[in-house]
Amino acid sequence: MSFTWTAHRFSGGALALDIANSVVLRFDPERRIDRFADPAAMDSFAEAASLYSAERERFGTLAPAPPENRKSLIGLREATDRHFRAQVEAEDRPDLLADLLEAIAAVLRRPAGNSRGTSLDVATAHSALSLIANPEPDRLKICPNCCWLFLDRSRNKSRTWCDMAVCGNRTKARRHYRRNRQGVQP
Ligand SMILES: [Zn+2]
Repeated sequence: MSFTWTAHRFSGGALALDIANSVVLRFDPERRIDRFADPAAMDSFAEAASLYSAERERFGTLAPAPPENRKSLIGLREATDRHFRAQVEAEDRPDLLADLLEAIAAVLRRPAGNSRGTSLDVATAHSALSLIANPEPDRLKICPNCCWLFLDRSRNKSRTWCDMAVCGNRTKARRHYRRNRQGVQP
């Protein structure tokens, strides 16, 4: 069965973060899933991003990255994840910023191909550049359930989960299950 990109997969609040989040449970070697391991899912991401990404108005209809650019998009994805994760952890890592800038440059140097619309790799590079140029450290967060990066756009910056309906409820359900199993009253 092929994988479908739902609105939930675009909880990052910026295209570059949604791309980084195409790896689920990144730090759990047993449950980690790289959705871009399947090139077809990488291609269908572009269409779904045109519908669901917080930056859909900025980039319009996105075309899939040309096959020869897939590798540089993955490089950009990994550099994006490392840099912004270090930002959330308040680590001083100028080397990770340098890596990300190089990954952006690698994408922008490649011919974009003759696809209609902006290609996904180029749009992701511009999205990452915007996040670097306009950092929002008090809004950039990591979901404690799925480890996704996201921008908390809530008015009082009080969001904990990438998506309350998915990660918030899953965590609540787990807690409920544990309590009941242990016979502890809520
Ligand atoms: Zn989450």
